[in-house]
Amino acid sequence: MTRYPADVDVVVIGSGPAGAAWARVLHERAARLRVVVLEVGPVLSSPPGDHVKNIADPDDRRRAQRASEGPGAGDGPGAAPDGRRARPGTFLLPDGFAAGGTGLPAAAMSSGVGGMGAHWTGACPRPGGSERISFLPDLDADLDEAERLLGVSAAALADAPLAADVRALLGAVLDDDRPLDRRVQPMPLAVQADGDGGLHWSGPAVVFGDVLRQGVSLFPDTLAQRVLLDDGRVTGVRVRDVTTGAQTRIAARVVVVAADALRTPQLLFASGVRPPALGRYLNDQPQVLTAVRLREDVLAGAALEPGSGTALAQGSGVSWVPFDDDRHPFHGQVMQMDASPVPRPDLPADRPGAYVGLGWFCAKDVRAEDRVEFAEDAVDGYGLPAPRVHYALTATDARRLAAAKDAVVRAARVLGEPLDDAPIELPAGSSLHYQGTTRMGQADDGTSVCDPNGEVWGTRGLFVAGNGLIPTETACNPTLTAVALAVRGARHVAASAAAWTGEDATRG
Ligand SMILES: Cc1cc2nc3c(=O)[nH]c(=O)nc-3n(C[C@H](O)[C@H](O)[C@H](O)COP(=O)(O)OP(=O)(O)OC[C@H]3O[C@@H](n4cnc5c(N)ncnc54)[C@H](O)[C@@H]3O)c2cc1C
Repeated sequence: MTRYPADVDVVVIGSGPAGAAWARVLHERAARLRVVVLEVGPVLSSPPGDHVKNIADPDDRRRAQRASEGPGAGDGPGAAPDGRRARPGTFLLPDGFAAGGTGLPAAAMSSGVGGMGAHWTGACPRPGGSERISFLPDLDADLDEAERLLGVSAAALADAPLAADVRALLGAVLDDDRPLDRRVQPMPLAVQADGDGGLHWSGPAVVFGDVLRQGVSLFPDTLAQRVLLDDGRVTGVRVRDVTTGAQTRIAARVVVVAADALRTPQLLFASGVRPPALGRYLNDQPQVLTAVRLREDVLAGAALEPGSGTALAQGSGVSWVPFDDDRHPFHGQVMQMDASPVPRPDLPADRPGAYVGLGWFCAKDVRAEDRVEFAEDAVDGYGLPAPRVHYALTATDARRLAAAKDAVVRAARVLGEPLDDAPIELPAGSSLHYQGTTRMGQADDGTSVCDPNGEVWGTRGLFVAGNGLIPTETACNPTLTAVALAVRGARHVAASAAAWTGEDATRG
């Protein structure tokens, strides 16, 4: 007896923001479609896919983080034997992270309902200038829709007591003659304020909305082992129930692989779908960090209270210095330390909110030779072909990093006294924003994996989703864009549904 249906319309693999967006939009637009979501990791939170930061009890929260830390989750010490440390809720590639070049020693993933979206910081800036995908004319409308699905707002921490001062100081030196929407401003965050100082962080539960109660079925603890194809057309998926080891097939007309930018190409490779660009153009945003204690004239008189429960201390909030090709080709994230994904336990706790972290992200010089390959003769902890990362920074990257260090120090000095002698350059992979490995393109010319709807070239019914689709050099956080691309793909499939179900699946 299997817990899986024999036959559905659409299988979505992966329950992070991209997979959740596919399920939500398919259900909203074509309610009769039978959609299932498969997730190799367990349910961490309630409702499924809720952000773990919304779990008030610290022990329960830590348990939820541990449960998503990969094969054998919860058993291990959370650090690789070679001393590399993963951030809570994530796990590192145990080996193969530097098969060529410097590799991505900090490359990490999450395996749990919600994916990395159950642990993320929620920064959702829009791409600008050369970051944008120029061949998608409706990108802004899709970004609007992505903001709706993720519950993005710039208001949640905008009125923190020191936030306006931080923005004014930075704006005075960084705004120049930028267009209004690219000036220093509150960071759009996937966070909702509850009115009492508490914050609700959007995980994929917010993206799913009600669809898991309205007919879309979620199967946690379920590994997709192969996408099944016949004569270039998807026929279904072979899955393994990781709680019992039982294997079964689910027949499907459409399969969407939304399994993160390292494991989406892995599943395609395992399924024998190997277009030339698969795994290539891998990029992670090189990142520099520094921190300051805010100027005394800014701190004077500010009432800074520690946070409690799921509420953050109200300090300097989260500000955004947008990417600008000409004036500031970096994405700047300026955060009160307790909101930062890179904590600084070395800082004194005398005044919460008095310390601010500045993270400047660079766009990588994207090259085909930076890639994740998959072994024919070795497997990972789930039994899928083991990833092998070939990756290096170029001379262009070195120049961009040097310029980012200068820029972040200049910005830090405006705010107060830098705490470090020099900015810290984080190890490659630290951004957790891996892109390019299943990139979209306008033509099947060997430099892309999928078309602008996410359908893999030459395979009907097989779609990919997530940050891997982003073909441009971006410095800004990618999730909003990945969700916008998921909206686009799901809308396309929903529109075709009537034709292939023989009835109007778009009617509820
Ligand atoms: C600490 C932290 C902070 C971050 N901050 C930000 C931020 O501020 N802004 C931003 O834009 N991004 C941020 N990110 C990155 C963000 O979380 C990711 O961009 C986003 O989650 C990617 O969504 P996804 O759905 O493509 O993949 P994921 O969220 O990674 O989900 C993929 C899912 O697929 C599952 N899966 C993989 N293989 C299989 C298989 N074979 N079978 C079944 N299931 C499978 C995985 O278990 C996983 O749950 C952050 C990440 C972390 C960890």
